Amino acid sequence: MNPTPPLGTHAAIPKPALDQVLGALRDAGYTLVGPKVADGAIVYGEITGIADLPVGWTAEQEAGRYRLRPGVPGRLFGFAVGPHAPKRYLYPSTATLFRTRRTAEGFEVLPGEEAAPRYALVGVRACDLAAIAIQDRVFLDGPAPDPHYRARREAAFLLAVNCLEPGGTCFCASTRTGPRCTTGFDLALTELDEVLLVEVGSEAGAAMLAAADWRPASAFELTRARRALAEAEGRMGRTMDVRDLPDLLYERLDHPRWEAVAARCLSCANCTMVCPTCFCADVVDTSDLTGGEAARVRVWDSCFNHEFSYVFGGHLRPNIRARYRQWLTHKLATWIDQYGVLGCVGCGRCITWCPAAIDLTEELAAIRGGEPT
Ligand code: SF4
Ligand code: SF4
Repeated sequence: MNPTPPLGTHAAIPKPALDQVLGALRDAGYTLVGPKVADGAIVYGEITGIADLPVGWTAEQEAGRYRLRPGVPGRLFGFAVGPHAPKRYLYPSTATLFRTRRTAEGFEVLPGEEAAPRYALVGVRACDLAAIAIQDRVFLDGPAPDPHYRARREAAFLLAVNCLEPGGTCFCASTRTGPRCTTGFDLALTELDEVLLVEVGSEAGAAMLAAADWRPASAFELTRARRALAEAEGRMGRTMDVRDLPDLLYERLDHPRWEAVAARCLSCANCTMVCPTCFCADVVDTSDLTGGEAARVRVWDSCFNHEFSYVFGGHLRPNIRARYRQWLTHKLATWIDQYGVLGCVGCGRCITWCPAAIDLTEELAAIRGGEPT
């Protein structure tokens, strides 16, 4: 048995020893969820060990474009984020809030989910840790904490990875949310050529690392990791100038660029579905055909949907110009008023997965460049 490393330890393990950590997580009752190749992309799904990771794969990302490509042979995490974010597991797209069942006396109310699943999320990037911290503010710190989110969040184990291969649409260095994982993880890995460096962020993380043959990382290894992260910071595919937000956008609500982007935007809502911080939802009631059972279900919604802003008598945002402006200004301005942080963590997903190749860094730059109208 290996000693349990103290909090804050920077350890080193041989790459195959990651399977020992994953095995310990499985033995502790976690369902392992991590990156894997499926449907022509690197997506999140259930994994059993290293063999399921996209070993040696990477992806080219550009506005409206994603292509899987062979990467560095043997590299476990040589790719940037794909379309799936941890949100998919902590705040799923469909969640039964509660159920009701007819009884002889009337009806009984049943929980929607018997027990929260215990996910160990493997390969979470710094931008997604920042997005989780944002959703924590929304769902846990507000006046009406969400018990469904809380249950999944408390049950989760976060095995993060420092990003050394930023994608063509990444800009977390601009939003100061990456590429290094600084907080909010149980364990954080940095992949060097021969070893994985592991930073211990919690007691739970320390207990899992004790299952592997770890040793303290050397000063040489730590210096290499620092250099690699500094280089990654300089290789982001995008940048975004976040100075003067939120006021810049409030001053330019009538800028002609909103009309120009509305002419391209399909209002398809893809950007909000892939965004790790977007949280808007609708609530629908369903019942079975016999009328014996009913359920209240929460489903993701989007400010790009026409019905989303319908109030009695009409739509608050009847056209795409109004809807795109709402989305961008919420991300980069009103979110700051609400939660004290940007609503964008620079993951680049909305750029890659927009079918019209709309790029919010480009839109903000254009609005910044023009004169207020
Ligand atoms: S910006 Fe792109 S992804 Fe978002 S709604 Fe418009 S077309 Fe769809
Ligand atoms: S707005 Fe776009 S780049 Fe920013 S966090 Fe959401 S998906 Fe990522």
